[in-house]
Amino acid sequence: MNETLITIFITLVLVAATVVPYVRRLRKKEGKAREKFQQLKISGLHEASAMHPQIDALQCIGCAACVRACPEGDVLGIIEGKATLIHGAKCVGHGLCAEACPVGAINLLMAKPGRSADLPMIDERYESSVKGMYIVGELGGLGLIKNAITQGTNVVRHITSLPHSTDDDTYDVAIIGAGPAGFAAGLTALENNLRYVILEQNDIGGTVLQYPRAKIVMTSPVELPLWGKVKLIETRKEALLELWQAVIKKTGIKIHTGVKVENIQHDENQFVIQSASGEWKAKYVVLALGRRGTPRKLGVAGEQLSKVTYRLIDAASYQNSHVLVVGGGDSAIEAAIGLASQKGNTVSLSYRKNEFSRIKERNKAHIDDFVSRKKIIVEFNSEVKEIMEEKVMLQTPYGVSEIPNDFVFIFAGGELPNEFLKKIGIQMQVQVME
Ligand SMILES: Cc1cc2nc3c(=O)[nH]c(=O)nc-3n(C[C@H](O)[C@H](O)[C@H](O)COP(=O)(O)OP(=O)(O)OC[C@H]3O[C@@H](n4cnc5c(N)ncnc54)[C@H](O)[C@@H]3O)c2cc1C
Repeated sequence: MNETLITIFITLVLVAATVVPYVRRLRKKEGKAREKFQQLKISGLHEASAMHPQIDALQCIGCAACVRACPEGDVLGIIEGKATLIHGAKCVGHGLCAEACPVGAINLLMAKPGRSADLPMIDERYESSVKGMYIVGELGGLGLIKNAITQGTNVVRHITSLPHSTDDDTYDVAIIGAGPAGFAAGLTALENNLRYVILEQNDIGGTVLQYPRAKIVMTSPVELPLWGKVKLIETRKEALLELWQAVIKKTGIKIHTGVKVENIQHDENQFVIQSASGEWKAKYVVLALGRRGTPRKLGVAGEQLSKVTYRLIDAASYQNSHVLVVGGGDSAIEAAIGLASQKGNTVSLSYRKNEFSRIKERNKAHIDDFVSRKKIIVEFNSEVKEIMEEKVMLQTPYGVSEIPNDFVFIFAGGELPNEFLKKIGIQMQVQVME
């Protein structure tokens, strides 16, 4: 009898010794996730801007397989025993969370939460509602470099099989955007001897090169036309840029950079692509614009420096830095708050008007709080005059002030890709990718 009691006692002690630390670890992790979620909520970064996992809380068993599977690290967390989107802005659509979920509780939703008619209508050959105009890459709703390359390649292979242009001054295909999708589309056009033109508003490489980021993850290799297999499972942003440069050198592909396409008109025979620097005619158009849009620029000297960004995705990447945020809307204020909450940052906010207007109540309360605690310096009635490597010249009512600076974030509005698509006549719809 005594022996049985002793055995039960020892078993209980052993179970407690295993379970208690496990539960403690879970609680600690949950506490951290909750804390991070609350912090990101203040700067609006908890919300996804487009792609994000949608979690069915009734099905979720809280096993955290999705949290562990995410290569971005902290997009998801477990709160109250359920997977929760805690850093939505960081989701780039790897989709590994959905694959890892043992009970199928996750869908990848391709639109921003609460948005309708978010994506362009395209058929299985990526043709939009405008005949002869194709949409590839993230603009069509599917994220990731690999998917963009694959779609860009496939769409031009399809175009190759269609009747070519018979007009000497009309290109077979115009490709708009030189991110991974447009780049692969261009290489495929070159490979198939099509007459092509590639127009890019910034520089080659696309979205991924425009954000500070330690690593780029490609969960499987991809075939790049005229080059071969690209196996960058985990690499630096610089390595990706070096790859694009090497491909350009080897193939001689031509890309017109610094050309923003403003409009595209068409009749039954051809498209006319319009920009401030000229017009191009093409039989087919491939839109590879991504989903980040065209942010409005300030047009000041130094704005081309790599420290200047038009969107904040991960505030924690910026610490111990002098940061200037430009703008007076919700995005600017949320970014300033997110950045001022990081270790060692000094944050200034420059706004050309004399007060914030039409901002959310909660942002008004937060900014007042941060200003009163001297965590953010607000310069009303000010404008950026020049951006330099280590400082910014700011025109204020008291003259030009020179402030030390490591990063500039500009939130001056701009054109969203869907606005552009609607302008050129493309129909939209809601899509969910399973
Ligand atoms: C911070 C961050 C990290 C990421 N990390 C990864 C990762 O690790 N692995 C991964 O696979 N994916 C990652 N992604 C996602 C990946 O970058 C995108 O899915 C991919 O770049 C989509 O390629 P795309 O060619 O469709 O569009 P984009 O790369 O967005 O390229 C679109 C191009 O079109 C140009 N353009 C837009 N409008 C016009 C116009 N009117 N006229 C002329 N040009 C125009 C833009 O300037 C841009 O260069 C990340 C994204 C971000 C934001």
